[in-house]
Amino acid sequence: MDSISREETVRQVKEAADIIEVVGEVVRLVRAGAHYKGLCPFHSEKTPSFTVNPQRRFFRCYGCGEGGDVLDFVMKYHSMTFPEALKALAQRYGVDLPERKMSPREKKKQDERSEVFAVNAFAAETFHGRLSGPDAEAARAHLAERGIPDEVVSAWRLGFAPDSWDFLTGLCRGRGCEEAAARAGLIVERRNGGHYDRFRNRLVFPVHDTAGRIIGFSGRIMGEGEPKYLNTPETIVFDKGKNLFGLHKNREAIRKAGRCLLVEGNFDLLSLVAAGIENVVAPLGTALTRSHVRLLKGYTGEIIIFFDGDAAGLKAAMRAAPLCLGEGIAARVAILPQGHDPDTLLREHGTDAVHELVEQASDLPEFVFDRLAETHGLSVDGKTRIAAELGQILREADPDPAAAAIFASHFASRLGITADMLITGRGKKARAPGGKTVSAAAEKTLPLKTRQLVEFLIIFPEYLQKFIKAGIEEVIQESRAQRILELLVRASGSGEPDAVHDRLLEAAGPDDREYLTALLVAAPDSSPDEAGKAAEEMLAWLERELHRKRQEELTRQIIEAQRSGDHARCLELMEKKRMMGRLPGAAGTGEGTVTPRRPQGEEK
Ligand SMILES: [Zn+2]
Repeated sequence: MDSISREETVRQVKEAADIIEVVGEVVRLVRAGAHYKGLCPFHSEKTPSFTVNPQRRFFRCYGCGEGGDVLDFVMKYHSMTFPEALKALAQRYGVDLPERKMSPREKKKQDERSEVFAVNAFAAETFHGRLSGPDAEAARAHLAERGIPDEVVSAWRLGFAPDSWDFLTGLCRGRGCEEAAARAGLIVERRNGGHYDRFRNRLVFPVHDTAGRIIGFSGRIMGEGEPKYLNTPETIVFDKGKNLFGLHKNREAIRKAGRCLLVEGNFDLLSLVAAGIENVVAPLGTALTRSHVRLLKGYTGEIIIFFDGDAAGLKAAMRAAPLCLGEGIAARVAILPQGHDPDTLLREHGTDAVHELVEQASDLPEFVFDRLAETHGLSVDGKTRIAAELGQILREADPDPAAAAIFASHFASRLGITADMLITGRGKKARAPGGKTVSAAAEKTLPLKTRQLVEFLIIFPEYLQKFIKAGIEEVIQESRAQRILELLVRASGSGEPDAVHDRLLEAAGPDDREYLTALLVAAPDSSPDEAGKAAEEMLAWLERELHRKRQEELTRQIIEAQRSGDHARCLELMEKKRMMGRLPGAAGTGEGTVTPRRPQGEEK
């Protein structure tokens, strides 16, 4: 096709595609005037800066700068090439797509990817067919034993890879797709030429991406053998750190339920699905990653970690904490009773037991802290150990620096140490090789909120009383910030309102004076409206933070009461905590929500 008709087709597709519908499938969008807003799927954030404009048909994130039209979104979000995205949208919105010429390189990449998807689809159907064969008896028995009914087996296209080195290899050779099967990770190259089957004597679960294409497989061994679970290796379309088993099939249920259960294994997931609980996903034999959490954030505001009470399950729950905190997604932990997995729990106690566990699940950060406090106690020595373990969890989860900082600041104040100590695991600031340190980022993010509050009040002292009433003194703990606040209170207490700044500078010590002068000189002129809006947002944050702090204090007292065996006091405190209810505004600690700086160049 020539370039003019191609341009025309692209235009038609962009016009026909409903960008709100396409984006809204994977990002929770809320109407805001003429636009829609949501949490950006391309970077970590807790307050929405991702905007979709339905009239002009584009999206833009004011946080990370991603932006573009519906095609750009589909390419970026679903990891599609331009022709793939164009084709998918054209098909979906009924636009005829003439064949077009691609550059040889483009064509090759495109072909390789389509071949991999095609051979995966072929393998899935082949394995599925084989599950009814005579050699799959053990696999069928296993499914029956795990309580997976035929409807689920068929809907999820579960299959069986026979105990053979060249079952699939032979079939693919016959169809001329041996190379593609090797690229798909289905078969493995032999050292002296030829290939052999990767999945042998395994029950196989096809894995779909967010666009519904089969990107790989997860196979469970039948009988003895290692490894118990085998996944497709990384290929041009498969990355287990970025995909979740069950997400594509269960996404509507997840969206409807408003929460997503995260279980450990494929069978756990299918047992729940078989029992009618469909808002569930499972990581593919890997620990939860930042990408997973970000992916889920597009479908739900709450993750329920639904793991075994064994050591591995607890460890996995702990590891999820920095990721969820960092992504600003609410997370709770429901630990299965000792010796149970979802299947046995369902069998013995029914779906009500699952719902009950979910309702009673505890907040993830509190769960982590309480577990550590139980183990180590809250003596000085205990706190040191807790800090060391939290630091370890953080390093293992390896979240991005901002997430690490949020995690650290969340726990550091409870331990009476600096976030920096928690991150580095040492008393002194440590500089990582390479210059860019996590602690540097922590410093920026951690006192950021405090700094914003204090700076705002220095520039707009007329708001001081409001903030004091809202409990700012209880929330701010840094000594310097406390000192400045005190100075500010004194300076605004008497005399001319216009001379507050003069009195402030006069009362301050040399260090603080330098800081205050720099700040006042650099302060941008804000309109009263802007200042009022910033104040409102900060007061809302303050309220959440205060609530969180009070809850934390109660938790600490509860642990203390438990420790000293004072059951009456313990119950009283627990009731008090329950009465306080959940956080206003739910999601998290609300780090980085507002800045008193100039408003962003909002779209017109
Ligand atoms: Zn963004």
